[in-house]
Amino acid sequence: MMILRAGVLLCILFSAIQSFAQIGQTREYDIFGAENKKVTILSESLKGAAFYLVSGHGGPDPGAIGKYGRYQLSEDEYAYDVTLRLARKLIEKGALVYIITRDPNDGIRDGAVLKIDKDEKCYPNLTIPLNQTARLSQRTKAVNTLYRKNRGRYQRVIMIHLDSRSLGENIDVFFYHHPKSKSGKRLATRLKNKFKEKYAKFQPNRKYSGTVSSRNLYVLRNTKPTAVFIELGNIRNTRDQRRFVLKDNRDAVAKWIAEGLEEDFSAR
Ligand SMILES: [Zn+2]
Repeated sequence: MMILRAGVLLCILFSAIQSFAQIGQTREYDIFGAENKKVTILSESLKGAAFYLVSGHGGPDPGAIGKYGRYQLSEDEYAYDVTLRLARKLIEKGALVYIITRDPNDGIRDGAVLKIDKDEKCYPNLTIPLNQTARLSQRTKAVNTLYRKNRGRYQRVIMIHLDSRSLGENIDVFFYHHPKSKSGKRLATRLKNKFKEKYAKFQPNRKYSGTVSSRNLYVLRNTKPTAVFIELGNIRNTRDQRRFVLKDNRDAVAKWIAEGLEEDFSAR
């Protein structure tokens, strides 16, 4: 009788341990692609945090288009690659991560020119409509449904875009929050400061001029968790293109965002 009880107890304990990630544990996520699907938990610095990562556009809408030699670059593909890299880094730090705009077969890609496709889906596996309002409402609903499930946790929505301006205009990574969101402003400011710190370290000859401002965007207004909208640069500007055409730069941008989120979470 005693032995049986101990066995049952052990079983219960074991299943509890299995249900959350532990340092050193490796899990597989097909969304990151064959070469990157194994993710090992390296720390618990984001344990308890939930992130909703929404890369801009997708499906029938490629977003802004830039010219790069004889190639076309589309906003949605680059925003998505940075988003996947960010997702992986957040999981490594113990966070719960939802990738809201998702492509079943792209994975993390290292190339300079990312092929433009239209097969992105909205979490969990919904076809993305062409109509803009319907598209934004679909991703907002996906986030808000998960938000209710994760109530009580620190939860943040990170939206990643690239801007499109005149050819000659180069812009640094900049951030928007909803006018009424104090926690959004705080997070955006932390992220901006993180970029400032990194530029001072890695590109000391170049002044970082990224900004934080409020904007009454549909997605910022309607998502329930605190949200920040990030613009990575001007997809039409040659100098800005280096920030996302080079995979090491995409990775660095993702790393800095992850570090900024880590700071915001630890100061919560
Ligand atoms: Zn966009």
